Amino acid sequence: MNIVLLGAPASGKGTQAEMLSKKFNLYHLQTGGIARELAKKDERIKEIVDSGKLVPENEMSMYVMDLLKDEKPEMKDILFEGFPRFISQYEALERFLKNKGDDIDAVISLEISKEEVVRRISSRVICSKCGEVFNLVTNPPKEKGVCDKCGGELIQRDDDKPESVEERFEYYKNNTEKLMEYLDSHKKLERVDGNRPIDVIFEDLSKFIETLK
Ligand SMILES: [Zn+2]
Repeated sequence: MNIVLLGAPASGKGTQAEMLSKKFNLYHLQTGGIARELAKKDERIKEIVDSGKLVPENEMSMYVMDLLKDEKPEMKDILFEGFPRFISQYEALERFLKNKGDDIDAVISLEISKEEVVRRISSRVICSKCGEVFNLVTNPPKEKGVCDKCGGELIQRDDDKPESVEERFEYYKNNTEKLMEYLDSHKKLERVDGNRPIDVIFEDLSKFIETLK
């Protein structure tokens, strides 16, 4: 079974991907992790990752295919997170899987509004001393503006300010729009409302995946 999970930043896709791969015993293939690993050895990729941009689409396809070619036993059933994002990547993956008699069984999009993304991310603060992360809505510090752990000052990262969050959201949308349209026209896209609580979404996704078995 191969499943693709798409979602904007702060859509909760990372959390869902982790929970789902545990429950259904899927290999969690996360391109964010691949890019960060590559960035350690490659200055050019480090710059791309640090600026919040994507590794060029063909290049990322190549890295993913390389990984899949190993055919590790634990990679029999895979949950893809963050890949494919473009039609070219989707087709490359589909071609690769079909060659070995496999397929992409479903693509799930965790849909979330821009307002909700801004609300989630801009309520995030970080300790300027120890780096501990708090969320003013879901995980507030005991004392306003002060770190529970070390007493350091809590600040908001520039990246988490509403303007940058909106920019990242638009970047995601512009980059996946064509793939979404393509999948819709092939009736391959399962859209799930990501504005709801984690456990409610998890239940929905689990039910859907059960139907694929
Ligand atoms: Zn601290």
